[in-house]
Amino acid sequence: MECPKCNSLVSAKARFCDQCGANLVKDVTFLHHKALEQYHRGLIDEALYLWEEALKENPEFTKAHYYKGLALYDRGELQLAVASFKKALKGEKEPFRVYFKLGLAQYGLGDLAASVESYRQALELNQKSAETHYRLGLSYLRNSDLENAQEALEAAVRINPEYTRALYILGMVHSQKGDNLSAIEKFRFVVTISPSYIAARFELGMALFKEGLLKEAADEFEKAVSSKNRFAPGHFMLGEAYRKLGEFSLAIGAYTEVLKLNPKDADTYVRLAECNLQLDLLDAAAKALGQALVLNPNNRDAQYLQAHLKEMNTPHKPGF
Ligand SMILES: [Zn+2]
Repeated sequence: MECPKCNSLVSAKARFCDQCGANLVKDVTFLHHKALEQYHRGLIDEALYLWEEALKENPEFTKAHYYKGLALYDRGELQLAVASFKKALKGEKEPFRVYFKLGLAQYGLGDLAASVESYRQALELNQKSAETHYRLGLSYLRNSDLENAQEALEAAVRINPEYTRALYILGMVHSQKGDNLSAIEKFRFVVTISPSYIAARFELGMALFKEGLLKEAADEFEKAVSSKNRFAPGHFMLGEAYRKLGEFSLAIGAYTEVLKLNPKDADTYVRLAECNLQLDLLDAAAKALGQALVLNPNNRDAQYLQAHLKEMNTPHKPGF
């Protein structure tokens, strides 16, 4: 550490500078540097204590308010972080980072209108921040304001055309607007740039599925589960795509994978039963339905199929 007055080396524990006699425990710059050192070592409580000490000496020490906000944010104390960032704004001459972090904390609290406002303020100061446009888009999306979300995300992508997270969320916006073809285009671009982006691969499959492009959808779900075998929604949707394609054996294989991961998923047992029925595998169907009904005796589809199965098993009953 350095003495802020004379720049000579001093120990972090020193109370006074040996060279110039400066009172280090009351020097806000010294306290701040000491706090930063603790903070970067992950010692958040110690760092917070030092910033508090600095603020006792100078309540308008902007840097201490800002970093205190960051430390509180890291600790999940978002309300307190917001208060610190607001205090930091009062004295900050270049407040872009402060508005940005304030927006993050407000978003974390679910105060979406406030986070939108903070990101907008940040963008007034720096239009070129793709990340701020992206975060603004997320806030709008969470607030179900799809038009503004799209506009903000497109701005992010104009600045950084291969910004995969922004492209992915843009795909989600198109998807929510029911524009599957635009969603497909975005998600496809994301997986082209980043083939291991499983969530984008899955959403690509979903958009294709909704568009009725079942074979293509199945291919994407297949790729998703082959790179992440324990991804139950991927296996389930693969089963759905195969079932709708009439590929019942393949669907059974996919549903079986879901049940390995989620053995208590009654709905998947029902799907398994449906596929077995289609293949005239009545014993397997009965077994799957039995399991669905053990897990959820009120499952309507299971009740309906079980009644149907009983009729199939007694074809010579009177009047049939
Ligand atoms: Zn000194």
